[in-house]
Amino acid sequence: MDCLFCKIAAGEIPSNKIYEDDKVLAFYDIDPKAPVHFLVIPKEHIASADCITAENSTLIAHVFEVIAKIAADLKLEKGYRIVNNCGEHGGQTVGHLHFHILAGRSLTWPPG
Ligand code: AMP
Ligand code: ZN
Repeated sequence: MDCLFCKIAAGEIPSNKIYEDDKVLAFYDIDPKAPVHFLVIPKEHIASADCITAENSTLIAHVFEVIAKIAADLKLEKGYRIVNNCGEHGGQTVGHLHFHILAGRSLTWPPG
């Protein structure tokens, strides 16, 4: 499958990794929108949040456990934002489910 994040998960395209286990990978975003900006992805190809089901939601729960662990490791005690862009109007540009973690500055709300 011609999927950028599947290739990153497989190590075929390099990334600046923060965390990896058999199910999940976290790596820094190539075009950061905040002083700290990384992505957490399931290694399994899930196209978007629309495709989360009872069959794969345990994996998504694990993604959130990993986010909390990384936030503690990176000492993001002032807080952070978890973002998922889903579909065209959500602004999704890579069709492999990923969660953005943005931190290191005060973030505005609501997003544009
Ligand atoms: P989205 O627009 O929500 O689909 O997010 C895709 C994100 O992937 C963007 O923030 C991009 O900067 C990021 N991105 C694209 N290619 C790479 C790459 N090779 N390594 C790391 N991040 C990437
Ligand atoms: Zn993929």
